[in-house]
Amino acid sequence: MRAANPVYASLGTTIFETMSRLAAAHGAVNLGQGFPDDRGPDDVLEAAVVALRSGSNQYPPMRGLPALREAIAEHEQRFYRRAVDPATEVLVTSGATEALAACVLAWLEPGDEVVLFQPAYDAYAPLVRRAGATPRFVTLRPPHWSFEDDDLARAFGPRTKMVLLNNPLNPAGKVFSAAELDRLARFVERFDALAVCDEVYEHIVFDGGTHRPFASRPGMASRSLKIGSAGKTFSLTGWKVGMVVGPANLVDPVAKAHQFLTFTTPPNLQTAVAHGLRKDDAYFTGLATDMQRRRDRLAAGLRDAGLAVLPAGGAYFLNVDLRASGFDMSDDAFCRDLVERVGVAAIPLSAFYEEPRVDHVVRFCFAKQDAVLDAATQRLRERLRPAGG
Ligand code: PMP
Ligand code: GLN
Repeated sequence: MRAANPVYASLGTTIFETMSRLAAAHGAVNLGQGFPDDRGPDDVLEAAVVALRSGSNQYPPMRGLPALREAIAEHEQRFYRRAVDPATEVLVTSGATEALAACVLAWLEPGDEVVLFQPAYDAYAPLVRRAGATPRFVTLRPPHWSFEDDDLARAFGPRTKMVLLNNPLNPAGKVFSAAELDRLARFVERFDALAVCDEVYEHIVFDGGTHRPFASRPGMASRSLKIGSAGKTFSLTGWKVGMVVGPANLVDPVAKAHQFLTFTTPPNLQTAVAHGLRKDDAYFTGLATDMQRRRDRLAAGLRDAGLAVLPAGGAYFLNVDLRASGFDMSDDAFCRDLVERVGVAAIPLSAFYEEPRVDHVVRFCFAKQDAVLDAATQRLRERLRPAGG
């Protein structure tokens, strides 16, 4: 048998899939893989049902249904005061994952370098490498997950073509400050780079904060491709409806990559997402306050179990610092014990790093029903530290 492409041949199954399988095998409460266990908004579901039954189920236009592209443009205007042309500056994709793949495939060539921040979402480095480019990592560390000019200076160079930024950052729960974004923007400008901005958690920002799109930083609108995900905005992660917004000259090549990846995305889901994006402001603020309440509930439960919880300003995740919690073991070993003996699945942060690795932090997803969060924290309280241990 001939060899598969080494980028994929050398990879294992994703940590999310692995932990979900272990959770099922051990009857554990699954706070590993990041997905909400809600049904999603009823009206958005209903819009999909109606479209499925009475709309077209044939190929929609390659760039997305006009109604959805218009709704995406209205969304950018409403939340970020940004005028976007739905005909030329918007692309609908099959999830943010496909959007990322299309951006990377469209813009990178062998020899290019891409600045990534680690912990990095697991898809990034393999996509970059499969495109023949080389990732250059900026390593972020708890508790602040911040970076300075020196860190960027080590990663950027004459071959830098792209920076791939995830904000709010999965898995850290970090929301980058205006100063951090501007620091990065100066490097993007100086090195004439393109910014691919994975902002799928744009509506899941806490403590009264609002999302700052990277494209809104000075000079960045003309250099940025913003990626969104209906999966996150409507708590429907299985739907895989994503979007890319950016200037036409940046989006055009991405649309060409998209036409040979998936070409289109199910039309009924697109219709429903268009409906969802037009929901009133209360829906969007409600999503953030609801997730914040769950964050606080899980944080209190983790602290009661004696765990040192790191701050989280956005996304679905809380992280625990094992060293500060008195555990002298790797995050991998901790998670394995947790799922097998304690009955709670979590994700070791080392899975999101290459060298130099941070391996003493564990991620818990709080996008769950109260009863699920409470069941997990009860197990942690009762079983994590053996009596007298
Ligand atoms: N980027 C990040 C940072 C994510 O957390 C996710 C969700 N798993 C994705 C991209 C993928 O989103 P989608 O399910 O829309 O492909
Ligand atoms: N984004 C989700 C997480 O971070 C998982 C998505 C997946 O399983 N690929 O947990």
